[in-house]
This record gives sequence, structure tokens and C-alpha cells, in this order.
Amino acid sequence: MKCLFCFSTDFVVPHDNYQPQHGEMVKCANCGKLNDFDSMMRVVEKEGEEFIKKEADKIAKEFEKKLKKSLKF
Ligand SMILES: [Zn+2]
Repeated sequence: MKCLFCFSTDFVVPHDNYQPQHGEMVKCANCGKLNDFDSMMRVVEKEGEEFIKKEADKIAKEFEKKLKKSLKF
């Protein structure tokens, strides 16, 4: 997923096992703006709705990995 404002894929997370939930706001680590998780998911879905449905779980896991990486600066 990408920041809706600057398209960065780095996000600020409160702890290691953080998994964004529907309705949550996720802070961009690059520009510091708050992204609505549902809005980001909709952007992702636009890029390939059918594909995304099948890959949603995988993408969520990859997002989690990216979040973990972003903690290891
Ligand atoms: Zn940003």
C-alpha cells in the first residue's frame, strides 16, 4: 500500500505485530500525514480488483513485512 499523499510505502507503526484494521488511520513515515486504511485498500483494489481479492491476504502480509522493515532504520 502507498501513502495517499506522497506515495511512500513507509508507515509509522506503534509496535512490531501491528496489523492495520478497517477504519484505522495509519501515519506515513515520509510525510507524516494520516492515511485512512480503508481508502488505501480501495486504491489497491482499483489496481486489480479480482486479482486483489485473491491476493488480499498475501498483500496484507507483505504490508506487515514492510511495516516491520520500516522499524529497523
Ligand atoms: Zn506520505
